[in-house]
Amino acid sequence: MTPAVIFMLHREILNWLKETGPKMLEALWREADAARRAFVGDDVHLRGLIEISNHCARQCAYCGLRAGNVKLERYRMTEKEILGCANDAADYGYGTVVLQAGEDFGISAEWLAGIVKRIKSETGLAVTLSMGERPYEDLALWREAGADRYLLRFETSDAELYGRIHPPLPDRETDRIAILRELRKLGYEIGSGVMVGIPGQTLESLADDIMLFSELDLDMIGVGPFIAHPGTPLGGGGYELALPAEDQVPATEEMVCKVIALARLACPEANIPSTTALATLNRDYGRELGLMRGANVVMPNLTPVEYRAKYEIYPSKVCIYETADACRSCINNRIVSIGRQVGAGAGGRRRAGAIAV
Ligand code: SAH
Repeated sequence: MTPAVIFMLHREILNWLKETGPKMLEALWREADAARRAFVGDDVHLRGLIEISNHCARQCAYCGLRAGNVKLERYRMTEKEILGCANDAADYGYGTVVLQAGEDFGISAEWLAGIVKRIKSETGLAVTLSMGERPYEDLALWREAGADRYLLRFETSDAELYGRIHPPLPDRETDRIAILRELRKLGYEIGSGVMVGIPGQTLESLADDIMLFSELDLDMIGVGPFIAHPGTPLGGGGYELALPAEDQVPATEEMVCKVIALARLACPEANIPSTTALATLNRDYGRELGLMRGANVVMPNLTPVEYRAKYEIYPSKVCIYETADACRSCINNRIVSIGRQVGAGAGGRRRAGAIAV
């Protein structure tokens, strides 16, 4: 049997991140695709994304939901609306719903726990939460209510850069890696990831990020390009933070695909989405490229159309005018067009090592 972990050294990862030769890159895509097939198979799991609130207490320099973006009209979905979307997910055959929001303390831990319980009992779907850096008691309560997974990207493992782009709240430290470890102890499947091409990000630190994916033994890894939002400090591209061009990680499709491929090789059993941000860079076939270079998950959007444009973490996001039904058929067609199939069931992390092919 193939070993469950393909060990990669920092040096090897860095060399791949620097590689530009088309033939060599073809070899990387092939290797990542083979590891994806051997470890997680040809099924593409669909996670229905519900963006339940765009209120946010934080001032992240990259994100359009930041509290300081006063131009953004804020919304918070009702329990009834969220349950309606979860029922749509079940009707569409999705195995999981992902509830995501800004860091919104207007969402009480008890209220969300009640919703998680109802989704679990009324639909049986797996529930993933992505609510930012909430206190331990909230995370524990949601886990007790039945939440299965939690997504919290560490964004970059470069502590100095992270401090500049993700300031802490006045009364609290920000240590996402510590929170991920707590989530693991609480019994969640844990997901994390990074943005590629943050102004000030170096290839060395990006290689560190991939090593950290493996060290944390992540169950899910989300990777997308940084996309400048004009309502944020990094909106002009953040060039005041930028490094000399030769050191700065470019926020390109090719670099994102390299990180997806290397994440697959470093963490072969992980569930890795082909992200909306990648599809925003390449509207024609960004989704397919991610799926062909290591990814095995897609997150179709279930958020009611009236709220979608308001969940503007970055501008020009794809699919903001499509209905949930349109997203579903578009994504289905894309999966079938590359010879893959939609997976049934919740599609959780499998730890069985390579599957027989
Ligand atoms: N409040 C939650 C969810 C944030 S949105 C949290 O902080 O975890 C989910 C992800 O979108 C973030 O983790 C970040 O990686 C990504 N994101 C935010 N702004 C972005 C931008 N300008 N470009 C690309 N990705 C961005």
